[in-house]
Amino acid sequence: MKIILLGPPGAGKGTQAKFISEEYSIPHISTGDIFRKNISDKTPLGIEAKEYLDKGQLVPDEVTINIVKDRLSEDDCESGFLLDGFPRTVYQAEALDSFLNANDNKIDMVLLIDVPRELIFDRMTGRRICPSCGASYHVKFNPPKLKDKCDICNNDIIQRKDDTESTVKDRLDVYEKQTEPLINYYKEQGVISAIEGSGEINQVFQRAKNALGAICK
Ligand code: ADP
Ligand code: AMP
Repeated sequence: MKIILLGPPGAGKGTQAKFISEEYSIPHISTGDIFRKNISDKTPLGIEAKEYLDKGQLVPDEVTINIVKDRLSEDDCESGFLLDGFPRTVYQAEALDSFLNANDNKIDMVLLIDVPRELIFDRMTGRRICPSCGASYHVKFNPPKLKDKCDICNNDIIQRKDDTESTVKDRLDVYEKQTEPLINYYKEQGVISAIEGSGEINQVFQRAKNALGAICK
């Protein structure tokens, strides 16, 4: 299964991706996680990406596309993958399509997580992440079992630098201008399936499974 998770920042893509990737045994590829790992390792990519992430802007298309192509060329992606946070522009979507076409492949489903705008702000400012495995928590809606510790790797969880009030606003603007046009792009391809992202995390996962059932073999 080749799946894209689409939706505004804070929709719950990363949260659902962990469950979906486990359920269907496909790798979860989050470009945001890849950039954050490079920033924490201070690699040349991390140094370049940091200025964009800190401002809530998109990392340039060519840089991002090359990273994703490299990752999708790895063996574990042969039978499927779950993209989270990519593509984010029509240019990225076109590059992904050409890359997959060249390998006789295509996206099976774009799962759009729809969330009312008024929920997003609280979700993002209360988000905490594990810098090691990328797991996403929320101080109120999804706290870890042990205070401030990742359930999976027991690392200290942290607040993302770009989850502050002013950056969240900028990121929502970027989403509306640059990423939302992808909804029509994938509608035209007939591969989009929308689910409601409000409600309990597990409820959203059930909706995701129902939608993905249509492409499960
Ligand atoms: P995205 O990857 O789309 O930016 P996340 O999965 O990181 O979003 O979720 C954003 C925040 O909202 C996190 O703090 C997460 O724990 C929380 N969250 C995710 N899904 C739900 C939900 N269904 N209800 C309440 N909070 C949620
Ligand atoms: P995310 O973890 O998906 O919220 O992404 C965090 C940040 O990483 C974004 O605000 C961008 O700065 C950068 N980023 C992630 N994915 C992409 C992408 N596909 N294109 C450009 N920038 C991206």
